[in-house]
Amino acid sequence: METEMEMKMPRHALASRHFHFHFHFHHLFLLLALSACGAPQPPPPSPPPPAPPLSLVWTYDITVDPSLDLDVHATFRGPIRGELHVDGPATPFVERLALEDHGTWKAIDLSDAHWRDACSTTCTVRYHVRLREAANAIGDMDVAMLSGGAVFAPPSTWLLRPSEGPSGRYRFHVTTTEPIRFATGIRAAAQGKDTYEAPTTSIDEAAFAAIGPLRLAHVADPAVDAAIAPDLALSDDIVGHWLRAEASAIGAYFGRAPDGHAMLFIVPGSSPETGGKTLGGGGASLLVRVGSNVTAKNLEEDWVVAHELIHVAFPDLDRRYSWFSEGLATYVEPIARARAGLAKSERIWAEMIEGFPQGLPGARDGGLDGAREWGRLYWGGALYFFLADIRIRERTNGARGLQDALRAVVATGGNVESMWPLAHVIEVGDAATGTKVLRELYDELGRTAGKVDLGALFEKLGVRLEGGVARFDDKAPLATVREAILPRSKTATAPAPRAR
Ligand SMILES: [Zn+2]
Repeated sequence: METEMEMKMPRHALASRHFHFHFHFHHLFLLLALSACGAPQPPPPSPPPPAPPLSLVWTYDITVDPSLDLDVHATFRGPIRGELHVDGPATPFVERLALEDHGTWKAIDLSDAHWRDACSTTCTVRYHVRLREAANAIGDMDVAMLSGGAVFAPPSTWLLRPSEGPSGRYRFHVTTTEPIRFATGIRAAAQGKDTYEAPTTSIDEAAFAAIGPLRLAHVADPAVDAAIAPDLALSDDIVGHWLRAEASAIGAYFGRAPDGHAMLFIVPGSSPETGGKTLGGGGASLLVRVGSNVTAKNLEEDWVVAHELIHVAFPDLDRRYSWFSEGLATYVEPIARARAGLAKSERIWAEMIEGFPQGLPGARDGGLDGAREWGRLYWGGALYFFLADIRIRERTNGARGLQDALRAVVATGGNVESMWPLAHVIEVGDAATGTKVLRELYDELGRTAGKVDLGALFEKLGVRLEGGVARFDDKAPLATVREAILPRSKTATAPAPRAR
């Protein structure tokens, strides 16, 4: 199972120091399918077949005590081989591990392999996790951290599981007592209140979870919700309004709420800038650390939530195509937010003119595939989508645009919980516009370094920078394409740069 953590530089890196992190969940079986293909163009011509139903192999019953420690009963279907483990840094905080033997409990010494004999078919263990202490000591959003008396820790931190054994699905039930609440991005099980279920192969990248006196807010129907750290210095009303505006902007662009299901965790950050991270194992989640510079007044200038929601809304891709995922989020986020009135179009055009040159290939660069350098990933990727938007509109005389291609991918059920072959994304997108634009541009910019004359392109679009401000020429040959992508504001006074 491959995971990655990326750092994002902002759209205009010179003006700000946003760091953005996110995690992508990769389905093991799809990775295997891709690597087995081996060829540079690995597309199956139709959507990935639905996985066969998987049987339940691990079940957990968890009781949260008032100090936020956990008592866990777990049943594993055997035969179990290898270790029982949680995510590495949390290991010292797991204690009192015992195996049930005809109604009595026997302490397990993991170094003694004989305990596994009892797990040849099914076995039950119990253990205790000093979760609050772990969160306090570790302080890492990937593993466990404490904020305002609530613990933020994905289930991979506290669900003990065998390193080898039958795979299938895992299910857990959480019992809490008010005011303690539990929230996670992992999808609820079909039956049972406070019960969640996901494939065992997804647990290493399991969606975020939180336990404590959380503040909860509904963001979008049917099931986009937020769990807010008790010590976030913004009211529930303000946070709820903010998240609803961002989710609505992205939902309007894609034609539906991001995935229809997601849990947004909102905690105060320690750095001045907001950072975000997406985890999709078993269900969509994102964790946002709100920058210490962010106040109720400038909250709506913060674009990180929208960027992450685009990752939530779109299928995950192999890390070789990170430029595609990041380029998509970099290109769509400002357009979706400007169309929703959350950003000024003049500022967005200025940022594009300033930003795209950072995505052009250097003398020694090949195509975007496999790129790891931030300029190429974010701006190089965004340029792919910008050119696609223009070319689709030219080819269809304005009848279609990039948005039609992206909406088609989202409408077929793609989202961060699933990993798609890139070729399939391209195929679905091109079919929706009746063109081959995504494929052609992939061949031009993904596989080879390509050639783009940005100066000539912006001239044809009729937009240029004067003293950092975008100026428009409606007589330019592609002025109508420009206005279709992102129309200028009706009252085009010189807008102030967005505070970042
Ligand atoms: Zn991103």
